[in-house]
Amino acid sequence: MSDIPQERRVVTAIPGPKSQELQQRRVAAVAAGVGSTLPVFTARVDRGIIEDVDGNRLIDFGSGIAVTSVGASAEAVVRRASAQLQDFTHTCFMVTPYEGYVAVAEALAELTPGDHAKKSALFNSGAEAVENAVKIARAYTKRTAVVVFDHGYHGRTNLTMGMTAKNMPYKHGFGPFAPEVYRVPVAYGYRWPTGAENAGPEAAAQAIDTITKQVGAENVAAIVIEPVLGEGGFIEPAKGFLPEIVKFANDNGIVFVADEIQSGFCRTGQWFACEDEGIVPDLITTAKGIAGGLPLAAVTGRAEIMDAAHAGGLGGTYGGNPVACAGALGAIETMKELDLNAKAKEIEATMKARLTAMQEKFAVIGDIRGRGAMIAIELVKDPATKEPHPEAAAALAKACHAEGVLVLTCGTYGNVLRFLPPLVIGQDLLNEGLDVIENAFAAL
Ligand SMILES: *Cc1c(COP(=O)(O)O)cnc(C)c1O
Repeated sequence: MSDIPQERRVVTAIPGPKSQELQQRRVAAVAAGVGSTLPVFTARVDRGIIEDVDGNRLIDFGSGIAVTSVGASAEAVVRRASAQLQDFTHTCFMVTPYEGYVAVAEALAELTPGDHAKKSALFNSGAEAVENAVKIARAYTKRTAVVVFDHGYHGRTNLTMGMTAKNMPYKHGFGPFAPEVYRVPVAYGYRWPTGAENAGPEAAAQAIDTITKQVGAENVAAIVIEPVLGEGGFIEPAKGFLPEIVKFANDNGIVFVADEIQSGFCRTGQWFACEDEGIVPDLITTAKGIAGGLPLAAVTGRAEIMDAAHAGGLGGTYGGNPVACAGALGAIETMKELDLNAKAKEIEATMKARLTAMQEKFAVIGDIRGRGAMIAIELVKDPATKEPHPEAAAALAKACHAEGVLVLTCGTYGNVLRFLPPLVIGQDLLNEGLDVIENAFAAL
């Protein structure tokens, strides 16, 4: 287990000489299509600090894209996964099963919204979970159409590329995409033409009208949405939007799928973000935060829907790997023990207070949004026109990186700075990271 002083330390240029050497080897050996936000090579990670091979200590506001919520070397994850490694690494659950898989499915049934009978199937990646949610919904409804939303992100496989909204970099040149995927408006309050207060009901009405008129509700197997949109810019659908969509799905025999791959597992201050509006999804997809950094994903939902696929129809060689399952049980244990939902809410309070104060000084900050430790600011050239300012987002990220604070960008217009600190980050480190961000705005 890593044990690193929780202090920022910049001792070389970022990236430093050893990272630059490794980067040269990487460029020669690794496909150019696989990018990196910041090419500092990692040596160790502990709570809020990433230590690189040059001895720099960076404050982590990314958590490996919302994955290491419990930290990247959490005690319970390391302990349980190490013990499992000693016993066996793999059997294939479809050949001879093991308890860890079942225990993760039991935990998911307990933690996900709703008190109906639930079942789960486990996979390796978020995209794989989304694909399987669609398979299950189609098998259950005997329908084919899938409805997704503007600004949505669901992965990089063929079906999930088609379900993802943004062309560059996710889809460009990689088509043709799977058929029967239909995109409808989402209630993006900040950019809704008639104002945020109207976005919920108006976007819901438009979405339902499009489904009804262009697809036919009776042809729709699943409606898939992120309760807080991640890659699309940390968009919280305006109040009232999600309940309207859920009601429409329920009234029309459509499976409502909440893609909580980024927003789940305490990230927003709830076990799952859809709880904030009392939504009970039919199916829920999870991955990222589930296993403390080990690759695991799940589809969880109503038992009668989950059981609709025939035996042998779901699975995969590595799905629900025993080491990853042990990691998940360790991560869930940590979330409960440290009350990471409460920690996420504390992070939100600190971040929103600091960012709101910054917005009063820096007009480039158009919007502050998100929940828990999933917070973003949208940057604009002019608060009146809201013209996106992706250059400012890139410059700010670069300035923060040079000072040893790892931040990520996102958004359909590339103009959103997003903050996803590990939920175990200390208050001092959080504030120091925010100081660096504030200085970067002042220097912009
Ligand atoms: C990351 C993400 C995915 C894809 O997960 P992978 O593990 O990268 O395949 C799907 N949906 C959402 C909401 C995500 O954030």
